[in-house]
Parts: sequence; structure tokens; C-alpha cells
Amino acid sequence: MPQIIDGKKIAQEIKDEMKIEADKLRAQGIIPCMAVILVGDDPASAVYVGGKRKDCAYVGIESRAYELPKTTAEEELLTLIAQLNEDKNVHGILVQLPLPGHMDEKKVINAISPDKDVDGFHPVNVGRLCTGVEGFVPCTPAGIVQLLHRSGIKIEGKECVVIGRSNIVGKPASLLLLRENGTVTMTHSKTENLMDITKRADIVVAAAGRPKFITKEYLKKGAVVIDVGIHRNENNKLCGDVDFEDVFEKVSAITPVPGGVGVMTRAMLMYNCISAAKREELL
Ligand code: NAD
Repeated sequence: MPQIIDGKKIAQEIKDEMKIEADKLRAQGIIPCMAVILVGDDPASAVYVGGKRKDCAYVGIESRAYELPKTTAEEELLTLIAQLNEDKNVHGILVQLPLPGHMDEKKVINAISPDKDVDGFHPVNVGRLCTGVEGFVPCTPAGIVQLLHRSGIKIEGKECVVIGRSNIVGKPASLLLLRENGTVTMTHSKTENLMDITKRADIVVAAAGRPKFITKEYLKKGAVVIDVGIHRNENNKLCGDVDFEDVFEKVSAITPVPGGVGVMTRAMLMYNCISAAKREELL
């Protein structure tokens, strides 16, 4: 029987650890605080923001909500970010993506102070990750490493294949696995003979955004599979990039969808926010 990696349990552990850290900070007069900015009325974004605020309340992080209309001028958003950058009581700033079409996402992300960039998307934090300097790491890839560590799965020396090279999942996941001393191959839509590459892997991270794409033919026996994908199947139920039932007998460990990587993303946001507040402790 393969190990089913329990993201829910691990995410809860991390949130409980962050709650203790938040209490310690409060005892020193530091109230961890995250500003959450939502522009527009996209229902999915509103649900994500609601979930993040709920986690903040659980951990003991003050969350300040800024809900701006869809028609907000980019300049107005940049001014708000500049104010929050200066506000000593705000430790983390999160702008929920995607932004309305008239806004330049890169410009907005670049406006957030790298020291408050709890999503880890600012180029300075990307550079820090590349060069092995401490900084904020994007939450989904950070969650993947936590899932592996806390499930007793060794990364060092292992052949790791990441499927996908996006800036929010594939690339940072590859860099993090490399930082953990894995031997990493990053693959993408133009990769030739993907199956030959994934078949070598001890650890496969599937983030191609293609439902049930990875079947047992892509894997070697005993591989560890981390499924990042989130999709609705033909019955409107959630599924991942991996065909869970098909690969089940072949793998040694696997994350389910839901209950695997997805829940970790929010927990790691709490981790990043507490890390940001701890910087105040050091100032
Ligand atoms: P994306 O569309 O930005 O990137 C997909 C990547 O997969 C690209 O780099 C592309 O080159 C690669 N790819 C596509 N087809 C491929 C193929 N046939 N072979 C190899 N590579 C291929 O997507 P993303 O934002 O990185 O997200 C990937 C998946 O993860 C999506 O299903 C998304 O919903 C999910 N996701 C989950 C979380 C979470 O919290 N669990 C967070 C972010 C994204």
C-alpha cells in the first residue's frame, strides 16, 4: 500500500506551529499583520481571499482587507501598496491575482516591498531563491517541500522531475528541490520524450495543468508523486494532473487531490507572514 501524504494534517500542524509563534510575537508587542488586496469581483478570488483571512484569524494574524472595485485605476492600487510598504504595522502584503485586464501584474508585484512580499513573487525574492539567500518562497512550492520533509521522504541525492515551468509552481519548485540537494530536471510543454525522463524519477512533481495526464506508464515503480494540479473531472469532482487510481499500485507515496498540495499553499502563506513579522523583532 502506498503512503497517502496527508496534506490536511500537515497543513494543520504548520498552522498550529504558526499560532504559537504568533502568540510569542504578541507577547513582545508585535501583532503580525497582513494586508490582503482584492481588486474586482471575481467569485473564485473572493473565495481564496476569504480562506486566507480565515487562516489568519485562526493563527492570530491580523488581516486587513482592501476590496477595490474592478474599475480602480492602476495608479490608485500602486499608491495603496506604497502606503502599506511604509506602514510599520503591516508585515505582509498580498495582492490577489489575477488582476483586471487594464492592470500590469508585473508592475504591481514589483511595487510590493520585497520584505513584505509574502507570496514570494517579487523579482528580488526570486533572485534570493536562485542564489540561495534567505527570502520569501512562493507558497505552493514551499508546501511541496514541507510535505516531503514531514512525510519522511528524502530529497537529497534523489532524481526529481518537475513537470511544468511556471513562475508560481514549476520553476520555484525546481529551485527548492535543488536547494534540498535533489538532482532536478525541469520539463515543459516543449520537452521531447517526457515519459523517458519521468520514468527515471524518484520524485515526480506534476504541475502541467492537465487533468489525469500522468498515468502509470510515466512512472517507475516506487516513485513518490506530488500532484499540484487542480481540476474538475467529468462528474464535477476535483482531480489532479495525476490519474490517482491508475498510478496507485505503482507508487510508494502520493498526494491526493483534494487534501494534498492545495491545502498546504494557505498554510505556507501563514508561515511567510509570521516570518515577515519576525523581521520586526530583529529590527
Ligand atoms: P501554468 O499553466 O502556468 O503552467 C503549466 C506548465 O506546464 C507550463 O510550464 C507548461 O510548459 C507545462 N506543460 C503543459 N503541458 C505539458 C506537457 N504535456 N508536458 C510537460 N509540461 C507541460 O500552470 P501553473 O500555474 O503552474 O499550475 C499548474 C497546475 O497546478 C494547475 O492545474 C493549477 O490549477 C495548479 N495549481 C495548484 C496550486 C495549489 O495550491 N495546489 C497552486 C497553483 C497552481
